Amino acid sequence: MILPPPPEQRVPKVRKQLSGDALYALLRSGFEGIPDHRGRKSPISLPDALMSALAMFSLKDPSLLAFDERRNEDNLRNLFKIAQVPSDTRMRELLDPLDPLWLRPSFNDVFRQLQRGKALESFVFYKNCYLLALDGTGYFSSSSIHCESCLEKVNKQTGEVTYHHQMLAAVLMHPDHREVIPLAPEPIQKQDGSSKNDCERNAAKRLLRQIRHEHPHLKLIVVEDGLASNGPHIRELLDLDMHFILGAKPGDHPFLFEQVLLAYEADRVTTISWTNAEGAWCEIAFVNDLPLNEANEDLRVNWLQYIEYAADGNEQKRFTWVTDLRISRQNVRWLVRGGRCRWKIENETFNTLKNQGYHFEHNYGHGKKNLSVVFAMLMMLAFLVDQVQQLCCPLFQAVLKKVGSKRALWEKLRSHFWHFTFASMQHLYQVMLYDLAKEVPAPTLDTS
Ligand SMILES: [Zn+2]
Repeated sequence: MILPPPPEQRVPKVRKQLSGDALYALLRSGFEGIPDHRGRKSPISLPDALMSALAMFSLKDPSLLAFDERRNEDNLRNLFKIAQVPSDTRMRELLDPLDPLWLRPSFNDVFRQLQRGKALESFVFYKNCYLLALDGTGYFSSSSIHCESCLEKVNKQTGEVTYHHQMLAAVLMHPDHREVIPLAPEPIQKQDGSSKNDCERNAAKRLLRQIRHEHPHLKLIVVEDGLASNGPHIRELLDLDMHFILGAKPGDHPFLFEQVLLAYEADRVTTISWTNAEGAWCEIAFVNDLPLNEANEDLRVNWLQYIEYAADGNEQKRFTWVTDLRISRQNVRWLVRGGRCRWKIENETFNTLKNQGYHFEHNYGHGKKNLSVVFAMLMMLAFLVDQVQQLCCPLFQAVLKKVGSKRALWEKLRSHFWHFTFASMQHLYQVMLYDLAKEVPAPTLDTS
C-alpha cells in the first residue's frame, strides 16, 4: 500500500538534481559502468549488489543479516532502483573481488552535481580556494580475521600479529558549515604484490595525485596535522599546485622555531591580541618568509601561531602552523579559522561515522580480497549523499529538525522503510515530516 503524499502547498521543496532520489539514481547509473568480473550475465547484477550495500549503509542497518531480514523489496526497487536483492552471502561474494578504485568515479559524479547546482559556492574559503582536510583513521582490527590487503602489526614480545585497516579521508570543509563534502578516500593497505605495510604518508601522496588528476582546476588549500609539515610533502603539494596550512610542532621543527625567536628579536613578528566572546584572551603571532628547516633552506614558509588563555592567565589552547599563503593583518584571523577547522574531519566525519548510526567500525564481512575496503568506501558514499541532502535539501533539513537528531532520523527512516511502501525517497521524507503514517493502519505488505 502506498501512502498518499501530503497537500502540495505544505511541502518543503527539494532541489531536483541534489535530492536523495536524484543522487541514488546518479550512483546507480555510475555503477552500471563498472565491469563485472564474472564476465557473463548472472541472475544478480553487480549494480544491484552495490546498490544493496549502499541501501544498507543509507538505512544504517547494523549488519547484513539485519538488512536481509527487514528487506522491503518494493522500497528497494522504488527508492534504490534495485531489481534483485542478493542474499548476504551473495553480496559478499559479489563485492569481494571488486577493485575499490572503481568506486572513485561515483564520488566525482556527486561532486560535479554539487558544482553544477552551485552548491559549493558557499564553501569557497579564500581567494577562490576550498579548504581540503586530510586525515587517517582505523576502522578494523583483529587478531584472526584478515585479507590480502590487511596491514599487519607484530607484537615484538609475543610475536602475535594484529591485522588492521585504515583509510585516509579527504573532505572539503568551511568554518561556517557543519557539513563536509568527502572526496573518494584512499585505503591505507598493502599494495598489490607488496609484502610491505603501507603508511599514511604514502597514501597521502597517492590521494593528492588522484585528486589533482580528477579535478585539474580545483583550487585547494590542503589542511593537515603536524606529520605533514615536512620538506618532501610540501614540495609535492606545491608541484600539484595546492596551497597548504599544516600543523608545525616545535619538537619537529627546532630550526624553524629558532628562526622564529630570531625574528622576534629582530622585531619582525606581528602580534595581535583581543578578548573573545567567551571572555578568553587570544593572541595571534605571525612572520612571513622563513626557511622550513636546515635541509630545506630554499623552501620558504610563513609561520602562524594562535594561543588562547583562560581568565586566570593559564594557557588553554595553542596551535602553530606553516603555510604558503602570505599572512597579513587583514587575513590572519581568517587563516587561523581555516587551520582550526581541521577538527571537522575528526568530529563531523569520523565521529559521525563511528558514533551517529553509521557503524563505521562494525565488521560487515571481511572477504579474502577487497570486501572490507569496498564496504568502507560505500559507507563513505552513503555519508556523502546524506551530507549533500543535509546541505542542499530543504525537505531533508525539515525532517532532521523535526526528529531532532541523526540517530532518531535513521531509526524513524528504518521503521517507515520496513512498514510502508513509498514511491520515492521524497515521498518517504514527506510522510515522516507530516506523520502521515499515523493516519492509516499499518498495511500488510505484499512481498511476493
Ligand atoms: Zn583485511
